Amino acid sequence: MNVLIVGRGGREHSIVMELAKSEQVTNLYVAPGNGGMKKQATCVSINEMDIDGLVDFAKEAAIELTIVGPEAPLNEGIANRFQAEGLKVFAPTKEAALLEGSKSFAKDFMEKYNIPTATYATFTEADEAKAYIEEQGVPIVIKADGLANGKGVIVAETKEQALEAVDDMLVSKAFSEAGSTIVVEEFLPGREFSLMAFVHENKVYPMVPARDHKRAFDNDEGPNTGGMGAFAPVPDITEEHIAFSVKHILQKAADGLMEEGRPFTGILYGGLIMTESGPKVIEFNTRFGDPETQVVLPLLKNDLLNVFLDVLDGKNPELVWEDASCIGIVLASAGYPGNYDKGIVIPKIDLLANSFVVHAGTKMQGESLVSDGGRVLLVGAKEATLETAREKVYRVLESVQHQTDFFFRHDIGVN
Ligand code: ATP
Repeated sequence: MNVLIVGRGGREHSIVMELAKSEQVTNLYVAPGNGGMKKQATCVSINEMDIDGLVDFAKEAAIELTIVGPEAPLNEGIANRFQAEGLKVFAPTKEAALLEGSKSFAKDFMEKYNIPTATYATFTEADEAKAYIEEQGVPIVIKADGLANGKGVIVAETKEQALEAVDDMLVSKAFSEAGSTIVVEEFLPGREFSLMAFVHENKVYPMVPARDHKRAFDNDEGPNTGGMGAFAPVPDITEEHIAFSVKHILQKAADGLMEEGRPFTGILYGGLIMTESGPKVIEFNTRFGDPETQVVLPLLKNDLLNVFLDVLDGKNPELVWEDASCIGIVLASAGYPGNYDKGIVIPKIDLLANSFVVHAGTKMQGESLVSDGGRVLLVGAKEATLETAREKVYRVLESVQHQTDFFFRHDIGVN
């Protein structure tokens, strides 16, 4: 079977690595891909937003299944186009992807279907938002409605921060259209975890939970990033927490979307938080998480291609998970998530048994692999326990410990 993966990050490399193991895959393509994928797949230089180009390529190369990684093309309707052309695609339509694409839609949806989440209100007028903040007090969370690459959320500790966030979004238009509507919501204290599931219409097949670390520096300090590392499963999230989250969050979401005439196919990602009154939703994503995917997929024992095909056919893929722990640490460019240099030669990483590298912002320049993004690569390890996996991955990273062009966090999986 000829398979196409759309995207260029670590998440997509992780999918490539799994599908490359499948005997049923004849040709594996990735558009546009990155510098580390060439051994396992053919990189095609078509941008992930060039939907016409991707459709043409899928027809020319007789692609029989397409998997879409990032959210932006989903919101542009890539799945709608592929379906209209009779091309099989494992991804939600733009109507279903609105669950990630609009936070106000997601909040109204959760309220309607009784899915546990923070209380909230939606605003387009700064004065009204400010009056609500005065009334609610702090801490409080201000969110741009649309996609903002993970930067459109301000957790305000003080009233001044909250009011400034409202002005930035609604008056200064810091996120242009994406911030012309905002959601102001209750701050939920608790420990976060991510629960992803393969979903087709009302069928939900959950994966193991993961926890990512979004802040740039150790001890959860510094600015928010796309994610600096992750591990799976999560020891403090019990079977009961997972069962509750599947029943009251993911299943209700899948059922609700069907009821709304927006049936979902693809990966439904619950960004959840363990509060005193149980798991609640911080956000929904409508695609694989990054870097969670890089630590969850290595624990899947099934052939990933079969899983996609079974789910699309409405069959139970009978997921089997390894009784092990997987951890991944992101090596980032110095300066990330602010300004950073690209084109720096990436040091060789000496792997040990049960460790691996997933590429993200890398490209080949002549014979050298050089950096091409903020998050450059992820070093992972899979071992019997989280402690042994963590010990292993940090042993591998010792060789890049003294690099000044790159950095990584030293406390992933500790808390
Ligand atoms: P992502 O990059 O994960 O897609 P996003 O821009 O969609 O991010 P959210 O996931 O909604 O934003 O929020 C980012 C982070 O802000 C969360 O991971 C969480 O740490 C914090 N946060 C958001 N909402 C709340 C809340 N209601 N209570 C506490 N913390 C919150």
